[in-house]
Amino acid sequence: MISDKSVVADIERTSIHDGPGIRTVIFFKGCPLNCVWCHNPECIKSEPQEMFYPEKCIGCGMCKYGCFSGARVICGKEMTAEEIFQEIFADKAYYFSDGGVTFSGGEPLMHTAVIKEIIKKCKKNNINTAIETSLFLFDCDLLESLDFIMADFKIFDSNKHKKYTGVSNDIIKKNFLKLDKLNVPFIVRTPVIPGINNTTDEIMQIRDYVKVFKNIMGYELLPYHPLGVSKQRALGLPETQFDIPTNEEMEKLKSYADLRG
Ligand code: SF4
Ligand code: SF4
Repeated sequence: MISDKSVVADIERTSIHDGPGIRTVIFFKGCPLNCVWCHNPECIKSEPQEMFYPEKCIGCGMCKYGCFSGARVICGKEMTAEEIFQEIFADKAYYFSDGGVTFSGGEPLMHTAVIKEIIKKCKKNNINTAIETSLFLFDCDLLESLDFIMADFKIFDSNKHKKYTGVSNDIIKKNFLKLDKLNVPFIVRTPVIPGINNTTDEIMQIRDYVKVFKNIMGYELLPYHPLGVSKQRALGLPETQFDIPTNEEMEKLKSYADLRG
C-alpha cells in the first residue's frame, strides 16, 4: 500500500544553502545509504527516534511525563502532503522569484507518493520545487516535474563507494544517464571528506563522468562539516569524525571540478 503520510525529521526555513534563492527545506526520514560522514544521521532510519542530549538534562527525573528541557526529544513526525504543503505555503512571501521548497533528507525519493502530491499543490501556487538526492533511487515522473535537482556523486570507484556509503554506485551512475534525459536542470555535488575522497584524481574522475551531460548546470564541492557528530551521540550511534578541509585544499580541488576542464 502506498502511504499517504511521510515521517519528517525537520523543516528548515529561509535556507540559502539548499538550492536557488531562499528556500524551505523538508527533511524526510529514511535513506538506503549509510555514509560514514553523514551530517543528518537522524534521517537514516525511517521511523521516529528518540534523541538524548545529556548536556541539556537537568536531572529532574520527570522523563515519563515528557522532557521540558529539550534533553530528550523525538525526531520524526508523521505528516500528510497537505500538512507539509501548508508549512511550505506559510513561507511563500520569502521565496521571491527564485526561491521555493527543497525536498531533502535522508533520501526524499523514498517518499514519492507524498512528494508528488506536494508538487501538484506547489505548481498550482507557483512555488518553485527542488530536490537533494543521492540518486540511488529514481522516479521519472517525480524528477521530471521538479524545477531543479541537486544530485550527489560521492565517490567514483564502486567498491570504495560501497565501503563508505553501504551501497555500490553502479545504479547511481546509470541513474545519472537517465537523469540527463529528463531535461530538468541539475547540479552535481561531492561532499569532500578528508581521507576518503579529497584527491584531485577522485574529483577529476567524477568531473569527467558528469561534464558530458547536457542539462548539468554545475559541479560543486561541499567541505565536510562535523554537524552529524553530536547527533550521532544523541542517537547512541558510534561517532565518526573527520578533519575539516582547509580553504586552500578546497580551492585546489575546486580548480579540478571545473566542467570545462
Ligand atoms: S525530563 Fe529531561 S531534563 Fe528531566 S531527567 Fe528526563 S531527560 Fe533529564
Ligand atoms: S545519502 Fe545523505 S542522508 Fe543518506 S546516509 Fe548519506 S549523507 Fe546521510
